[in-house]
Amino acid sequence: MHVLILGGTTEGRRLAETLHADGVRVTSSLAGRVASPKPLPGEVRVGGFGGADGLARWTREHQVDAVIDATHPFAGTMSFNAARAAATSHVPLLALRRPGWSPVEGDEWHPVASLEEAARTVRGLGRRVFLTTGRMGLAAFADVDAWFLVRSVDPPEPPHPARMEVLLDRGPFTLDGEREVLRAYGIEVLVTKDSGGAATAPKLVAAREAGVPVVIVRRPPVPDGVPVASTVDEAAAWVAARNTTGAAAGGAAD
Ligand code: NAP
Repeated sequence: MHVLILGGTTEGRRLAETLHADGVRVTSSLAGRVASPKPLPGEVRVGGFGGADGLARWTREHQVDAVIDATHPFAGTMSFNAARAAATSHVPLLALRRPGWSPVEGDEWHPVASLEEAARTVRGLGRRVFLTTGRMGLAAFADVDAWFLVRSVDPPEPPHPARMEVLLDRGPFTLDGEREVLRAYGIEVLVTKDSGGAATAPKLVAAREAGVPVVIVRRPPVPDGVPVASTVDEAAAWVAARNTTGAAAGGAAD
């Protein structure tokens, strides 16, 4: 069985490790946004497929039996392309999405639908902004009259806010570390996507403790009709079920 994992996430990596250890042939696909991604087991390909048609072609040419969309919850274009490619090439598709975050008592959250709305919302909340939405999409904040601390894995490129400092770092982050960032930089407002997961959640706790409001960008929906697993184990079980079915079907034909 050949499984294509559309990756770029911790879950994608962990699923590749699990399937590889189970003896499944795995190819992980990365967009190529990160200059030096962490190593992955199995085969790795890097770069876009050329839209949904390109992805459908790739799955045919490489005899892919199942696709797991383990992209980041905000990689909406890739997820949409995966759904279209799966529909045309009739390859089973599963979305692996870690659950989103939920506010608890003491949080001051301002949910928004886009980075543009986040930029409008920030204006009324503070003038020292901790921006943790990644290096893409900074243009939305370019005209906001505030100072920004931008945290990203690789350096951002213009257009970006005129007044900013860049903190190059990659999760997981600790609660003590996040407390220190908020304190040392005098942060008045935090902007984040609802990425979910434990690796980047400590900033939300640190913000709650410090009374810092959080502008949180809601996730785009998973495309209609695509089944969703919320854990790596669930996704691995979905693959195993298909592997068994395939083996049984092959046995019957022999
Ligand atoms: P996107 O807007 O959904 O995708 C834009 C294009 O990038 C896609 O149409 C596709 O090009 C290519 N692409 C995206 N993911 C790919 C993958 N895994 N393998 C091959 N090509 C891929 O995606 P994005 O938001 O720019 O994210 C890019 C990557 O970074 C994703 O793999 C995602 O998991 C990861 N990531 C994203 C975020 C985020 O906040 N968006 C955060 C952390 C990690 P073609 O149309 O040419 O195939």
